[in-house]
Amino acid sequence: MATVTAPTVSPILICPEWPVPASVIALVTTRGGGVSKAPFNTFNLALHVNDEPADVLANRAILQEHLEQDLDLQWLQQVHGTEVVQAGRNAGEKRGDAVFIDQPGVAGVVMTADCLPVFFAALDGSSVAVAHAGWRGLADGILERTLETFSVSPAEIICWMGPAIGPCHFEVGVEVRDVFLNACVDDTQRREMLRVAFRLSSESGKFHADLYSLARLRLQQCGVVGIHGGGFCTHCDAERFFSYRREQDTGRMASVIGLKKFS
Ligand SMILES: [Zn+2]
Repeated sequence: MATVTAPTVSPILICPEWPVPASVIALVTTRGGGVSKAPFNTFNLALHVNDEPADVLANRAILQEHLEQDLDLQWLQQVHGTEVVQAGRNAGEKRGDAVFIDQPGVAGVVMTADCLPVFFAALDGSSVAVAHAGWRGLADGILERTLETFSVSPAEIICWMGPAIGPCHFEVGVEVRDVFLNACVDDTQRREMLRVAFRLSSESGKFHADLYSLARLRLQQCGVVGIHGGGFCTHCDAERFFSYRREQDTGRMASVIGLKKFS
């Protein structure tokens, strides 16, 4: 049976509010609680953004301490693609944009600073995943590919959407909107997408795109019913979040999900 975890939000970590089995451990870091200096202040987890490597490694050690137990973390080299990798024990960084975990004691990590992190958990507690979904990966099917790696059906999987850039700050051109519209299966779907995910901007030819709505629509089309989270804006909330659109030279938050070791 699934148990409901109590909502806990600290200045340093965000614990998702979603009814997952007790075997699942999931958290998202914010920019607070680390040792990196400006413009990566303070909890930057990414080695590829020109932060001091020693500071990043210190932050990764802090992250490890925040997890309730010693988990092997599978890090990714993200490429805005649709590759889903299998998390391994003591495995080096793997190239891909989602990671699937079905071994106790192992967790996967995606890093973001505006793109949307999406957690997945099988309701039977057997497996979890996390995907990095920017608009390109979302359009190309990273969420669908991630769902396909599970041995249970989408109806038996719940999702939680972490901090991403909100529609208030995510302006896109007509070409981005059309990539999504062209992937719709019929006019009903197209109308729904236009209604919820692309609000006209005051600037002509531009739209406020809603990554949360786009992800929700894609997940619902696959048959996922339990979709939680969303509602953040990394650009608006400079206290808590890194935002690439706001700062360019900036750090990355980590979204971590794993399976606890058997006790
Ligand atoms: Zn905003």
